[in-house]
Formats: sequence, C-alpha cells, structure tokens
Amino acid sequence: MNKVEPSATGPSFVKSRVSLKQYNTFSFDYQAEYLAEVTSQNELSEALLWANSNHLPVTVLGGGSNLLICGDVSGLVIVNKLQGRALCESSQDYAVVEFAAGEVWHQCVEWAVMQGLGGIENLALIPGSAGAAPVQNIGAYGVEIKDTLLSVCVVDRRSLELLELNAEQCGFGYRDSLFKTDWKDRYIITSIKLKLSKHPELALSYGGLGNLLDADASIKEVFDCVCKIRKEKLPDPNVLPNSGSFFKNPIVTHEHYSRLKGAYPNIVAFEQEGGWKLAAGWLNDRAGWRGYTDQGVGVYEKQALVLVNFECSKADALLDLEAKIQRSVEELFNVTLEREPVLIGQAQ
Ligand SMILES: Cc1cc2nc3c(=O)[nH]c(=O)nc-3n(C[C@H](O)[C@H](O)[C@H](O)COP(=O)(O)OP(=O)(O)OC[C@H]3O[C@@H](n4cnc5c(N)ncnc54)[C@H](O)[C@@H]3O)c2cc1C
Repeated sequence: MNKVEPSATGPSFVKSRVSLKQYNTFSFDYQAEYLAEVTSQNELSEALLWANSNHLPVTVLGGGSNLLICGDVSGLVIVNKLQGRALCESSQDYAVVEFAAGEVWHQCVEWAVMQGLGGIENLALIPGSAGAAPVQNIGAYGVEIKDTLLSVCVVDRRSLELLELNAEQCGFGYRDSLFKTDWKDRYIITSIKLKLSKHPELALSYGGLGNLLDADASIKEVFDCVCKIRKEKLPDPNVLPNSGSFFKNPIVTHEHYSRLKGAYPNIVAFEQEGGWKLAAGWLNDRAGWRGYTDQGVGVYEKQALVLVNFECSKADALLDLEAKIQRSVEELFNVTLEREPVLIGQAQ
C-alpha cells in the first residue's frame, strides 16, 4: 500500500527530518521522520491528533538517557517537555507532590530535598525526565520510585482521554512496569504524584552509604553523598556518551547461585525472594570486559556495567559489543544478560 503523505497543515511545532543526536545520551545520529517538542497538554493533544489522523506511529522521549537508537525512527517522535512542580497536599507527616513529565528528574529530587521531603534522595542524579521515571521503575541505592509513587497521570494515545492510574495498577517490578510492556503504545505519562515523608526512614544499607553516613544523617546529607558517589563512579553522558547500566542485574535460582559461589567465592549478589540477584557489573568485570575498547565504543574503565560511545555516529559497533559480552557471560556463568535501555528505530 502506498504511504499517505501527512497533511501539510500539521501543527507548526512539528518539524520534519530531525537528527536525534541531541535527544539520546549515546549521541547516536539517526533521524526522526517528524519530531515535536511539546510544552503543554494542548500541544501534546494536537501532536497526537495529527499523528493519528495521518496514521503515523508515535514514539515518546524524555531525556533519551535510557535509549538505544539503532536506526531512523519513522512516524512522529514526541519529546515531552511538560513543565511544573507542585505541592498538592501537606500534613504533619507527609506531603503529596506532583511533577510534570518533562521536568528533569534530578531537579525534582533536589527540590523535594530542599523542602525537607524524603523518600527519593537516594535517586539523585539519575538522568532523564520525571515522566520516564515510572517506565522502568528507576532505582538506586536500595530505593525505587514505586516506593513513593502514588499515581501517574496519562493521556491515552488513541482516545486522547486523560486518566490517573494508581501505582498498584502499574505492575511495577525490577526495572519494569506495564508502561514498558502492555501499555507501551497506549499511554503517554503527563505527570506523576509522589507521597514524600517529612520524617523519612533513611535507606543506607546499599552501595556503602551506611559506611559514609551516620544513622541520623539528614535527607540533604544523603542526597549530597549519593551525588558524590555517582559523580565518582559513573561517566557524565555530556562528556562520554552512555546510557548508564547497559544490562539488568540477572536473577538466578538458589541452586545456580550456589554453583557460582563455589566457583567464584567473591561473586557479588543479593538474596531476594525466590533467588539471587547477581551484580551484572561484576560478571562483566570478571569476564574481562572492563576498559575494553573497539571500533569507537567500549566498556567504561571504572564500571563494567556501562557501555560507552567514544566516537560512533551509528549503533552497529555497540550492538556488536553487546552481543560479545552476552556470549562470554553466558559461556562463563551460564547467565543471560538482558539489555536495560529501550531499543528504538529500525536497524539498517
Ligand atoms: C549516567 C546514567 C546513569 C543512570 N543511572 C540510573 C540508575 O541509577 N537507575 C535507573 O533506574 N536508571 C538509570 N539510568 C537510566 C535512565 O536515566 C532512566 O531510565 C531514566 O528514567 C530515563 O529517563 P529519560 O527521560 O531519559 O527516558 P528516555 O530515555 O527518553 O525514555 C525511556 C523509555 O521511556 C519512555 N518514555 C519516556 N517518557 C515517557 C512518557 N512521558 N510517557 C511514556 N513513556 C515515556 C520512552 O518511550 C522509552 O521507552 C541512568 C542513565 C545514565 C545515562
């Protein structure tokens, strides 16, 4: 069937043939057929209406920090730039805050911390937008966004209906939610509501926080400590393009873990219901990948879980490297590594 050309009378903020280089933290240079940066609900509805009436697929982006773009993206790319932070409710113990989806997540965390509101300070310096935070249920230092999330406001891509979904409806799991699976092509998140505590219990048992902080540390001290550790450990995507952790930490059975522990007594793992979560960074490191470079891409020298792009404009070399790492980890540990960033674009 011949493709119908989109109506020429589309919204003025829709641009055609736009490079996505500045819209993904790997800095891969592919094109969006159409791209719209939306700054209001009206613009979002207008963009969706136009895409729907022209039968164009829609891809939504925030900060592009959890993406692996591997080809040009057909249809309309909507970059969510909706802004706004609000204190919706406040009691003696709690406050409910709402962040528009296009807000920079780290700035939301800082804003909450400055108001003495706790619960998300461990999630400081995670790049990207507030709206994408529930998509993979962002987590760091023993805290996940689902722990404080009350609800998510969304627009239905087809009907343009606005809905508020409770956190329990979102099917949160480890780096997962229904927004990544069943609802991938259904909803666009417009804002999120969190319930933050005025007397939070600090989560200091992960990532060495407990060794660096007193048990009665303030929320601000935890925030500062997390920022300091992350700056030391992780590459800044503005300096060295990357998407943070490239692989999810794999979960294995008790039996599998016992065998691995026998062979590798120093293996890093955390027990959890039904099995053990292995540190994928440790597996990659043990398999010899830390500091590896080839064809303009590589594995970060301080953290083997982070793949970096030194100089490539396309994703082929990175996809090759991913496959090599997965094969070697499978062979050595009989463990399958699953990619964390979302793949978009058509591979050429
Ligand atoms: C240096 C570095 C460190 C990182 N550290 C962590 C970490 O500690 N923990 C962690 O969990 N993650 C981490 N990440 C990954 C990333 O920052 C998070 O996943 C973040 O939430 C992605 O936000 P984004 O706005 O960049 O999303 P994008 O990359 O733009 O999009 C990611 C996915 O969400 C979808 N999406 C985006 N916005 C919306 C919306 N409004 N509605 C519906 N779907 C949407 C997209 O379609 C895509 O599928 C790190 C990344 C980097 C580069």
